[in-house]
Amino acid sequence: MSILSTPAGDLLAQLNQGEVTSVELTQACLDQISRHDQQLGAFLHIDREFALSQAKAIDEKRAAGETVGPLAGIPVAVKDVVCHKGQPCTCASRYLKDFIPPYSATAIEKLQAADAVLLGRTNMDEFAMGSSTENSAYQKTHNPWKEGYAPGGSSGGSAAAVGARMAPLAVGSDTGGSIRQPASFCGIVGMKPTYGRVSRYGLVAFASSLDQIGPFGTDVTATATLLQAMSGHDPLDSTSINQPAPDLLTDLDKPLDGLKIGLVKEFQADGLEEDVIKATDEALDVYRNLGAEVKDVSLPHARYGVATYYIIAPAEASSNLSRYDGVHFGHRAEKFKDLTDMYRQTREEGFGPEVKRRIMMGTYTLSAGYIDAYYVKALKVRRLIREDYDKAFAEVDFIASPACPTPAFKIGELIDDPLAMYLSDMFTLGANLAGIPGISIPAGMSGDGLPIGLQLLGPPLEEARLLRAAKMFEQATDWHLKVPELANHE
Ligand code: GLN
Repeated sequence: MSILSTPAGDLLAQLNQGEVTSVELTQACLDQISRHDQQLGAFLHIDREFALSQAKAIDEKRAAGETVGPLAGIPVAVKDVVCHKGQPCTCASRYLKDFIPPYSATAIEKLQAADAVLLGRTNMDEFAMGSSTENSAYQKTHNPWKEGYAPGGSSGGSAAAVGARMAPLAVGSDTGGSIRQPASFCGIVGMKPTYGRVSRYGLVAFASSLDQIGPFGTDVTATATLLQAMSGHDPLDSTSINQPAPDLLTDLDKPLDGLKIGLVKEFQADGLEEDVIKATDEALDVYRNLGAEVKDVSLPHARYGVATYYIIAPAEASSNLSRYDGVHFGHRAEKFKDLTDMYRQTREEGFGPEVKRRIMMGTYTLSAGYIDAYYVKALKVRRLIREDYDKAFAEVDFIASPACPTPAFKIGELIDDPLAMYLSDMFTLGANLAGIPGISIPAGMSGDGLPIGLQLLGPPLEEARLLRAAKMFEQATDWHLKVPELANHE
């Protein structure tokens, strides 16, 4: 097995055993990026020298017999929405084209403390708004499995980079599915932790009550290692959970006994593609063969999820994005008549169409005349959705569904139909509204050779068990070992 097609968990072991150096691995990733990223478009910014200097420092630390961190020497790509001091952070927006953060996100500091190699900054939908990465102001990202197909979004660059084996691991953010949906489209593992598990300090805010940073990886073990390294209480984020980072690794390989998996009646909706239904059924059979009981559960308010999310997320976005005023940082229009015109021109030039749509929708639903009818109503429905999950988890350990109703769609296919695009989040956004953890794992292939992901959702704070359930599946299948053609060309 070549270095690039080796699962990330095995690479971590090989680094620890001295079978491969961080410089070798980092160089292999950089070479893969040189070969394919022109066409793939996963990265917005790569600093090769910086990447190699970190790798070298970690190799030296190890050679000197010093204790190294749990991610020692492994390259990690980072979505361009998580601040890293001194590196660009554009959020794929023209507005932040020249923005260099003066501080690092807590998650980045933790990755550095864990001795990860920060490889580069990945493409995304502008300010994380979208499901295809087409809303980037800079470039399109292609699905590594098929040119012309979307990698999903909004963390599409991170997912494509890992899918194409340009990085064994990556960081994304998930507000309504932006880690799990692209993970599913690119055939990799992606996880949204419980709300508050990873500090949001230094994550550029989209919808603060929904946003979470989370990991992508080519296998469950390395994904768990990455999440553990980023987790933990942070006094700089008042919504961070006041608990130590969970132990996700000690029992990871131990199968769970007497597992009960819920299948949501309301999710068996129209619009599910045949290949997706088949992959999900087969995945559930895998669990049945491992001794799990699969039973129906009901989430009666699930059908209001998309509407609720698309009121709450834009409302919070309109408030969060008011900071882009042409005064504090980022872009400022060159020509304007007066102060109001400066704001208007700056925002007109700085933001793309989807971001403007969200700001307008959010401003509308928060306006004095409509707040009760829309925003306050949506908050009440959000509560009911959360209660549905609580009730379901009294009956089952996890809830299984496809991560997305379809495999990857074509670039350009949904971009002019925002509602159709929003519907691709129907299985993922409930977890954000409820604040619960969810994971997408490779679980099949469509007839067209596009990956299909299985989503498992768990109760709050149950990341360790959720990862164990995912690992059981991985051990029983080989979907995670399939790599796209371009990962075989070295
Ligand atoms: N696709 C959803 C949206 O556009 C979710 C995005 C995300 O999770 N960042 O809002």
